[in-house]
Amino acid sequence: MDPVYDQPMSDCLFCAIVAGDIPAAIVAETRDTVAFRDISPQAPVHVLVVPRAHHQDAAALASADPALAGRFLADVAAVAEAEGVAGSGHRIVFNTGTDGGQTVGHVHAHLLGGRGMSWPPG
Ligand code: AMP
Ligand code: ZN
Repeated sequence: MDPVYDQPMSDCLFCAIVAGDIPAAIVAETRDTVAFRDISPQAPVHVLVVPRAHHQDAAALASADPALAGRFLADVAAVAEAEGVAGSGHRIVFNTGTDGGQTVGHVHAHLLGGRGMSWPPG
């Protein structure tokens, strides 16, 4: 039993946010994606962007629907623009699997900005 990859889709937190069953601070919506503020922000701008469709991680999304993967990235870029961090720079993170620190098994981009970022990440 993998704590992330064996989460049943019926229990998916981000599917529930997309459906409106769990409230979130939504900042943008497109036909493909929903963007909302992370409940535990790690930077002045910390927005999660999720496809409406449930895919486990970036690889699963790219494999199942590469056109959606492309539109997803374009939607993340639009949120960066709207949040005022496109020109200043920002970080887009896909935590993936156990070692990657993924805790919600529905692919999501973390858009982080509004401060300088260090490298390497923790
Ligand atoms: P990850 O660890 O990459 O899977 O990211 C999951 C993110 O979801 C974490 O940064 C959490 O703070 C965030 N999160 C968990 N529950 C909620 C929620 N109800 N609304 C918004 N963000 C959440
Ligand atoms: Zn889901």
